[in-house]
Amino acid sequence: MNTATASIRFFNTLTRRKEKFTPIDEGKVRMYTCGPTVYDYAHIGNYRAFLFEDLLKRWLEHRGFKVTHVMNLTDVDDKTIKGSQKQQIPLKQFTAHYTKAFFEDITALNIKPADYYPKATSHIPEMIALIKTLIKKGYAYKSQDGSIYYAINKFKNYGKLSHIKVAELKAGARVKTDEYTKEEAQDFALWKAWTPEDGNVFWETELGKGRPGWHIECSAMSMRHLGETFDIHCGGIDNMFPHHENEIAQSEAATGKKFVNYWLHNEHLLVEGRKMAKKFGNFYTLRDLLKRGYDPIVIRYLLLSTHYRAQFNFTFEGLDVARAAVERLRNFVRRLQDAEGKGSGGKVAELLRGVQVGFGEAMDDDLNVSVALAVLFDFMREVNALLDASVLSRSEADEVCALMKRFDRVLGVIGEVEREEALSKEAEELIEKREEARKAKDWATADAIRVRLRAMGVILEDTPQGVRWRLEKKA
Ligand code: AMP
Ligand code: ZN
Repeated sequence: MNTATASIRFFNTLTRRKEKFTPIDEGKVRMYTCGPTVYDYAHIGNYRAFLFEDLLKRWLEHRGFKVTHVMNLTDVDDKTIKGSQKQQIPLKQFTAHYTKAFFEDITALNIKPADYYPKATSHIPEMIALIKTLIKKGYAYKSQDGSIYYAINKFKNYGKLSHIKVAELKAGARVKTDEYTKEEAQDFALWKAWTPEDGNVFWETELGKGRPGWHIECSAMSMRHLGETFDIHCGGIDNMFPHHENEIAQSEAATGKKFVNYWLHNEHLLVEGRKMAKKFGNFYTLRDLLKRGYDPIVIRYLLLSTHYRAQFNFTFEGLDVARAAVERLRNFVRRLQDAEGKGSGGKVAELLRGVQVGFGEAMDDDLNVSVALAVLFDFMREVNALLDASVLSRSEADEVCALMKRFDRVLGVIGEVEREEALSKEAEELIEKREEARKAKDWATADAIRVRLRAMGVILEDTPQGVRWRLEKKA
């Protein structure tokens, strides 16, 4: 299927409807996803968002689209400033540590890197230019303390994403913090004049001494890298208001053009019915779970396998179920290598057609991965029966294997499955990369790669003679 005939439908938060996906430029997708605020180790709720976005990108690529993906790094905001002050280290050093940790985590989770990772602190001139345009056009004003606010009653579409009604709000009331609730919707800060609480975090600019608000950061960075109008913008549902509502207000007021065509929001990962969040203290970082011996790919599977618009509770039983599912997928591919039957007389060809259609239709339908996986597991059950009966031929098994590889480019959980005591090319390359990291004394990367190899069933031992590897014995 080429991209012109692909018929993908997404639930667009703007319209609250499923809509056929048509990109601005045929065959190409420009997509922006709100990245981490690098003030702490990300928790697995955050990774639910980043994994949904990874699945979305991989599916679009599977359907033939060329995707340009931008994910920002929020390295200056209320939370990062507070965090660096608490640790008494410069903001840059503080955020660099958590940025590095983020990249280690996404490597372990097999998340495909974005094309660009713009940092807020590297885009201050773009933010100033945007704010100046908003002042010139009458959407922004300076308050007595020198901060600059966005006047929400000047933008007639304010509230179109989150469905709040501006008429019911207090005109002219102001909110300076980055995060607030719908009930507190007011004029929000684009530029925050320096106060002693900001310490040495400030920029001397035409707008005065200060720092940007969180929302203007994403408007400036997304438009800088993707243009004034682009296809897809994602984030967790908590980002819909105020963050994304404010991004629309800033960007559309400045350009006079539609900012984004499709807004996709993932639902929350919960713990005992409540959103997993730092502020509730009910979170697990990826590191917490890796320390307990969980395979990052099993965590990937768990967080991916529920539809992105459904909430679900994180539990350790859930992780056990995910581990069993990943093992079933890997064992299935491993078993295929032994097929030597006489052939199924067309049955496998029929099953292959069926699973491709079923999996594809489910994923095209707003990324319905749980249905797609159910279709895949049904297919595996049928093929397993043919393997049990020693019917499956070598060439049929090769076809099934090729299809599993294609699906795994989307799911990213099977990896290379080896029958013999031989290393895959992927594992060999990873071992080489780890050696380079060790030589550069980059222990964190070396450890992340070791975890990744462990997940692939490759166990490393560092001996005085150098690194040795062995394959994990499969039950
Ligand atoms: P932050 O680093 O706080 O800016 O969050 C990064 C991403 O994680 C955003 O898209 C959030 O909406 C998302 N997020 C935060 N908590 C959760 C959660 N419990 N479940 C799913 N996504 C979340
Ligand atoms: Zn953002």
